[in-house]
Amino acid sequence: MSKTYDFNDSTQLSPHFNVREFRCKCGKNHETLISDELIQKLEMLYDSLNCSKIIVTSGYRCEQHDKNVGGSGTGQHTLGNAADICCYGQDGQPISSKIVCCKAQDIGFSGIANITAAYIYTHVDVRPNSKWYGDEVHGNSTVTDDFYKYFGMDGTDNKERDKMNGMKGIDVSVHNGNIDWERVKKAGIQFAILRAGYGKLASQKDKKFEDNYAGAKAAGIPVGAYWYSYATRPDEAKQEAEVCVYILKGKQFEFPIFFDQEETKTLDTGKANCSAMVRAFCEVLEKNGYWVGLYTSRSMLSTHIEDDIKKRYALWVAEWGSKLNYGGAVGIWQYSEKGGVDGVSGNVDLDEAYVDYTTKVKKAGKNGYGKTEPPPTTAPDPKPDASVSVAVSIGKDTYKGTLVKT
Ligand SMILES: [Zn+2]
Ligand SMILES: [Zn+2]
Repeated sequence: MSKTYDFNDSTQLSPHFNVREFRCKCGKNHETLISDELIQKLEMLYDSLNCSKIIVTSGYRCEQHDKNVGGSGTGQHTLGNAADICCYGQDGQPISSKIVCCKAQDIGFSGIANITAAYIYTHVDVRPNSKWYGDEVHGNSTVTDDFYKYFGMDGTDNKERDKMNGMKGIDVSVHNGNIDWERVKKAGIQFAILRAGYGKLASQKDKKFEDNYAGAKAAGIPVGAYWYSYATRPDEAKQEAEVCVYILKGKQFEFPIFFDQEETKTLDTGKANCSAMVRAFCEVLEKNGYWVGLYTSRSMLSTHIEDDIKKRYALWVAEWGSKLNYGGAVGIWQYSEKGGVDGVSGNVDLDEAYVDYTTKVKKAGKNGYGKTEPPPTTAPDPKPDASVSVAVSIGKDTYKGTLVKT
């Protein structure tokens, strides 16, 4: 059963949800209907996904507003049973709607649907006595009874990522020899992370960095860079950062600059020191206008990296295989070191990106793109990533054409 709240009611319904978030967005100051069960299940979703926040883009809708956004005027939103949400992980990035749908299914929401082609927004509801699982991008009847099956995800491990969902990328260094970037582009590669260099000497610039940068750019492939660290102390990491900034100068990067921490003698110094080195490197890069992140393995992420870093910086996590067994959100997953891509001879590292860095970096004016807008805070952009065409304007709650009547 739904309860009725005055328009100006700001009751905190649960630890993470307030009445105000569920107000109808028609512009009239009328009452709000909210189901207790909806809030209870949203809290469960928040916990089980280890969210940093959940944004409700549409909660209660009056009949008129429901019709305005393409509904029948009698759907679950008009009963206070439904919410359209975006769930954010600990790194401040949206969690894929594929994962959210599966979790919502586990929790027992009776109505669940992916809303956008970017897999960022999810409709959930607690309709009584019936069930509806949908994917509003591909039509109503595409999902039958199981999101795990539908998205090809293994129900035994909710942390698994779906490799089909991300942008395809590679990361390369001098060890990959001469690369034919036009062929790489034709092979479907959508981004590349280039080794810029290693250690704390400018002479240790990667011998193919300039070639790779020029080649990828000419082929229209967005690039990021990484700096391979040998530091064992924060002051050394800082020195490495300064050299890195010097090497990167004058170039533009659509993807972040990553601190590559994997050397044994580095890792041997322990979690607190490794974390301090990451902060030291990242701080220098940020001061110089770079969108910065950490490259590490999934296991090192838990044993050698303190939590604040996972929320603060972009994460590029290596775990070779078909599963990334990491519960938090990551920006890029390196899933193979033995890939084959046309244009690169021999094995090449394969990656998948889940964040539209190109749009975010340019919007933030980072990485040589000049500041055009204030830099993002930890509050993420509530709109879908711009590289994926989504014909909805979530912010104002006008889903015209794509929203299914529920
Ligand atoms: Zn209304
Ligand atoms: Zn909805």
